[in-house]
Amino acid sequence: MKTYKIAAIPGDGIGTEVVSAGVEVLDALAKRDGGFKFEVDNFDWGGEYYKKHGRMMPDNGREQIRNHDAILFGSAGHPEIPDHITLWGLRLAICQPFDQYANVRPTRILPGIVSPLRKVTNKELDWVIIRENSEGEYAGVGGRVHQGSSLEAATDVAMFTRAGVQRIIRFAFKLAQSRPRKLLTVVTKSNAQRHAMVMWDEIAKEVAAEFPDVTWDKMLVDAMSVRMVMRPESLDTIVATNLHADILSDLAAALAGSLGIAPTANLNPERDFPSMFEPIHGSAFDITGKGVANPVGTFWTAVMMLDHLGERDAASRLMNAVERVTADERYHTPDLGGKARTADVTAAVIEAIQGSNV
Ligand code: NAD
Ligand code: MN
Repeated sequence: MKTYKIAAIPGDGIGTEVVSAGVEVLDALAKRDGGFKFEVDNFDWGGEYYKKHGRMMPDNGREQIRNHDAILFGSAGHPEIPDHITLWGLRLAICQPFDQYANVRPTRILPGIVSPLRKVTNKELDWVIIRENSEGEYAGVGGRVHQGSSLEAATDVAMFTRAGVQRIIRFAFKLAQSRPRKLLTVVTKSNAQRHAMVMWDEIAKEVAAEFPDVTWDKMLVDAMSVRMVMRPESLDTIVATNLHADILSDLAAALAGSLGIAPTANLNPERDFPSMFEPIHGSAFDITGKGVANPVGTFWTAVMMLDHLGERDAASRLMNAVERVTADERYHTPDLGGKARTADVTAAVIEAIQGSNV
């Protein structure tokens, strides 16, 4: 029997609640399948770890997870620690050295879930956003001088390389090509940002020549936010910079009903390093510990992880189970307007897996 070694890093806030729900569901899925199992190692890294040790993860943290088949991540973010410390100390400290440069974020309106956009259904909104995940505005280049004085100055330099832009745009064209509509929108801001964003546009045009069967267009990011709301059916696969796609994908998640259902894969497509799978949302301090976090984003994330591991049948079995459960309003958590609790949704998905004949 195939055994997958998974590194679970629940992190902080509702991260711990949704990751443990995700692990329960993965175990149920392995039992139902019979052809593989998971060996899950749990890492207690994050804000509480920081309070004890002064760092978000141990010095040799990455070595400890280097040889796992995949990483299941919850959230980095603690109410008592500045966000840039938690983010750079844990999530980015894994994504960047492991070269997980392709951040893939599918959005669909799942059965039973109503979009805040009037009359929009899953036929009109079925997107994948690809976020450049290693450079751009989050490259970490910049600095502060004269801190606290009236002369203080600060910069965050958006750093783009030809190699980095080329590989993400090529990845996006390939993904668009694998989807029925073969349609890609390249998002930049090449009117105002006249260096790197112009380079993005040029590289997009070059790479497009390798994919004659993919229809593509380009959009400025501000106009893109309007198009997502007004003409969602005109979009399919979308590629954008680290910052732009970060913002657009939260918007996409909200348009599909809730931030609580949206998944992400941080992929190292070459598989030189493990890839990392996480819900889009953060620690959600406002609902931490209440047992009402929506675990669907993490379950969908687990679907992406199974796909990456090559377990296609188990992936579609889990997605079917999730969709059967979202179709039933009794299993909607408060973010979807319901009263269900994390544990109710988890139990319902496990039951759907056990009873599934797919
Ligand atoms: P957030 O995603 O934590 O919460 C935004 C809103 O969405 C909140 O009202 C929250 O209750 C709701 N929400 C989010 N996930 C939900 C779920 N599964 N079920 C139900 N409701 C849900 O974003 P924020 O408030 O901007 O950030 C809080 C902390 O999380 C910050 O420290 C931030 O840095 C961190 N964060 C981490 C990540 C990450 O690690 N990938 C991502 C985003 C934010
Ligand atoms: Mn984000």
